[in-house]
Amino acid sequence: MLRGLSKDYGVGVGAVSGVDLDVQRGELFVLIGPSGSGKSTLLRLIAGLESPTAGEVWIGGRRVDPLPPRERDVAMVFQNPALFPHLSVFENLAFGLRARGVPGAEIDERVKRTAVQLRLDGLLDRRPETLSGGERQRVALGRAIARRPAVSLFDEPFSSLDAPLRVALRAELTRLHGELGATMIHVTHDQAEGLALGQRIAVMDRGRIVQVGVPRDVYDRPATRFVAEFLGSPPMNVLPCAVERAGDSVRVTVIDGPRQASWTSEGRFPWSDGPTRVDLGVRPEQLSVGPEASSSASITIAMEVRRLEPQGHETIAELSLGPHRIFARLPAHTRVAIGDRPHVGFDPSALVAFDPTTGVALR
Ligand code: ADP
Ligand code: MG
Repeated sequence: MLRGLSKDYGVGVGAVSGVDLDVQRGELFVLIGPSGSGKSTLLRLIAGLESPTAGEVWIGGRRVDPLPPRERDVAMVFQNPALFPHLSVFENLAFGLRARGVPGAEIDERVKRTAVQLRLDGLLDRRPETLSGGERQRVALGRAIARRPAVSLFDEPFSSLDAPLRVALRAELTRLHGELGATMIHVTHDQAEGLALGQRIAVMDRGRIVQVGVPRDVYDRPATRFVAEFLGSPPMNVLPCAVERAGDSVRVTVIDGPRQASWTSEGRFPWSDGPTRVDLGVRPEQLSVGPEASSSASITIAMEVRRLEPQGHETIAELSLGPHRIFARLPAHTRVAIGDRPHVGFDPSALVAFDPTTGVALR
């Protein structure tokens, strides 16, 4: 659908650089990345609100990048819903259909169906100013889907809402997608929202798509250190290590770590026969701490507990290993206390390795 798509505003690095992407018909696809990574620019290129410096946009077998926005059959929803303040919810939902000359009876039918799908049916006579933020955003979503475009583009539509509402609308969007089977591209900087919502996700970093896949795979097998650290809260722990192979075993030493930050493992790992200097990563939930240290953890290292952050259902521990900070997830009722030096266990086969220069995962 997108071929070699680039947008350069002439300010050094391109806002979008050489993006190739195929979104399937009927898919709920999520584009995630930090602020400034090019997500909005990419959506605006698809919608036709920007013209590319290079590359092509295809929708449903038709090349659309030379066409103006209204001939592309796409609808876009923005962070701040742009509703017509002087029109009722009904007329806001009907606006795009009227502009396209859809007959009155069909407009009536489609608006009412959309209102039911978005639970707006009790609000059709209201003006936008009398609605809550969540309701306004649902009207904006409704206006996009009432038109039944080939692709709906959502640019952080929930990010100005408070957390419970964001989570509720996330569920609504999933349900709506299931009912409509429409093609949707949703953009967010919130990695948790992306993982929860996307059938597939793409992670953007500085104008490029660095990884595409189902959320589980991208989380478990990040293609780069950037992806590993962008996904997850707290993110993956990544430490600089020296690797030395000796016969059937491999010796790993954490660089700048204290004396105990070193271990020997039997066997081979994807990272044990390559360069001698690698960055090794482990997710906080793959560490077991102190009395809870699980038996599957074959390596243990003593670390000092610096901070504990209760989350209700669990406690996040910040540990130190010399100058390095490490996050682990502990049970809510952990006995571990600040200042303790518990053993922290992990399974070396669960470690992910990255090239320290390029950040690319070694597999
Ligand atoms: P995101 O939506 O991921 O936060 P954007 O697509 O808005 O990122 O921006 C990507 C990059 O392009 C940023 O560095 C931003 O400053 C730049 N940019 C976006 N729009 C313009 C513009 N109209 N003119 C110049 N630079 C822009
Ligand atoms: Mg943006």
